[in-house]
Amino acid sequence: MKWELTVLGSSSATPTSERNPSAQVLNCDDRLFLIDCGEGTQMQLRKFKVKFQCIDHIFISHLHGDHYLGLAGLMFTYHLLGRTKELHVYANAWLRDIIDLQLKASGTTLLYPLIFHDIPENKAISLFEDNKIGISCFPLLHRVPTHGFIFRQKFTERNIIKEKIEKLEIPMRQLAAIKGGADFTDKNGMVHPNSELTFEPPPAKMFAYCSDTGFSPKILPYIKNASLLYHEATFMHDMQSNADEKQHSTTIQAATIAKKAQVNKLLIGHFSARYDELTEVIEETRSVFPEAELAIEGSTYKI
Ligand SMILES: [Zn+2]
Repeated sequence: MKWELTVLGSSSATPTSERNPSAQVLNCDDRLFLIDCGEGTQMQLRKFKVKFQCIDHIFISHLHGDHYLGLAGLMFTYHLLGRTKELHVYANAWLRDIIDLQLKASGTTLLYPLIFHDIPENKAISLFEDNKIGISCFPLLHRVPTHGFIFRQKFTERNIIKEKIEKLEIPMRQLAAIKGGADFTDKNGMVHPNSELTFEPPPAKMFAYCSDTGFSPKILPYIKNASLLYHEATFMHDMQSNADEKQHSTTIQAATIAKKAQVNKLLIGHFSARYDELTEVIEETRSVFPEAELAIEGSTYKI
């Protein structure tokens, strides 16, 4: 089961020569979900060789420009490349009007269905669900309506012990039923209970995305026990009053949230342009939560 996150942008506010604004792509068993789409995201997708035509769902946390100004460009590119399959966008309702105006002004009728899903303000709701994954959102603390996202893996099948298939000569056609919990009767009529044929799947994976937000313990129930938490850390601790005023977080605040939520791993990003070099940023974060890493553009993190 492959779950991994590739960071496409980690800069706050403006792009710099080294860093792009926010965007990440989550790969869940080769299904790609794009989270935020700052300016230049489509170039980052090409640069880091992401199969961007495979993206069918895009989640926008809020409508500050550094989180969505790349969306229209990507949508027009899909149109110019002849895309015909649906594209689902989940965002604040204002974005629907913004996109409609851009399409109208350019006289464009998209070749593909664009399906827009409004995220209501201050609500925690389910956004997407199938038998493999559940995706939901919850409110963050920011100057405009902002949501974090949760991607939760689902399991419907147990894992079969491979040696048993050969040893007991289990026919291929019965594997699905055994994965679903059935016992197996061999050719001599002997029943092998499911517990001897299978083992528990590993714990479900969970990725939580929190950008942008001030320090907010209210989010803890949503992100608790995440396998990987991405939390913004725009500033270092000495800039806390600045962070509070702008409703952003510091390294120490992001690490405190990770610690309280008992997540496995923390990824910090959305760095202020004032930090060219990030060694002190990560060291300060690790002083509170050692299992922390920097969101580096082009890097992929296993979940
Ligand atoms: Zn913002």
